[in-house]
Amino acid sequence: MDKYVVFGNPIEQSKSPFIHTLFARQTGQVMTYQAQWVALDGFTAAADTFFAEGGRGCNITVPFKEQAFTYADQLTERARLAGAVNTLKLLDDGVVLGDNTDGEGLVQDLLQHGVSLADKRILLIGAGGAARGVILPLLAQQPAGLVIANRTAEKAEQLATTFASHGRIAALALDQLDGERFDIIINSTSASLSQQLPGIPATLIQPETVCYDMVYGTGMTTFNAWAKALGARVVMDGLGMLVGQAAESFMLWRGIRPGARQVQRELRRTLQC
Ligand code: NDP
Repeated sequence: MDKYVVFGNPIEQSKSPFIHTLFARQTGQVMTYQAQWVALDGFTAAADTFFAEGGRGCNITVPFKEQAFTYADQLTERARLAGAVNTLKLLDDGVVLGDNTDGEGLVQDLLQHGVSLADKRILLIGAGGAARGVILPLLAQQPAGLVIANRTAEKAEQLATTFASHGRIAALALDQLDGERFDIIINSTSASLSQQLPGIPATLIQPETVCYDMVYGTGMTTFNAWAKALGARVVMDGLGMLVGQAAESFMLWRGIRPGARQVQRELRRTLQC
């Protein structure tokens, strides 16, 4: 039976085994998918052992995405620019391919909820690993513009420079945002995890502004509750992105696209969010 795994530390909270088990059942694929805790200095050894024992592919979560980037023999363009890998696949010639499916997971979640990105003005708050991973797929949707804003402004400027040749992208400081207008605001900061707001002006939130928080969990996230209270009609959390990135990994491994909406519904029921 083909073996897949997710490596992380911690790993108990991972929803990936739940998601991939449902994908496999839904598409009739004969495979196993398990979560594996890895010591902080043990990623390379764990991956070597997994592939030596016949493993076909793995997901990588915090804090090993950069190590997986180094581990891969070959990289997709989106992984190269993201500087991080969340999916490894053993190719037939023994080469290990590294991909990053996070950004496509976000884009697919938005599209499946009827939110088109083409010709829209998008604000991306945050400039950490999650932001970096989604920029190329967002630009590929040909938005009217993508603005990055981050608490530490220099990090946003660096990202805008890195991706400048891939589309219309710019950086603004948080205190330069007042008076701007955006169709879609994506919060890629971890602020909601500590019940904090990322520091953008309330004037950006209009009834038609689509607000997306990459954080997910029980109940509405801090950012989404704030946006909703300011009148935003559409607020989305990151659960759909999580399922979306998993669907992209599954597609890369198995060559078959699973139905993400159905699995997202099941996961929401389980998590009560
Ligand atoms: P990083 O640690 O790399 O970056 C964190 C970012 O959040 C930085 O830009 C940081 O700003 C900003 N930040 C943190 N706290 C605050 C605050 N109180 N106010 C303003 N900005 C803040 O983390 P990642 O980029 O890897 O992950 C960010 C979030 O995205 C996490 O919560 C993670 O769970 C989520 N995520 C969700 C995914 C999904 O599938 N739904 C996938 C990947 C990530 P500064 O640079 O100034 O420190």
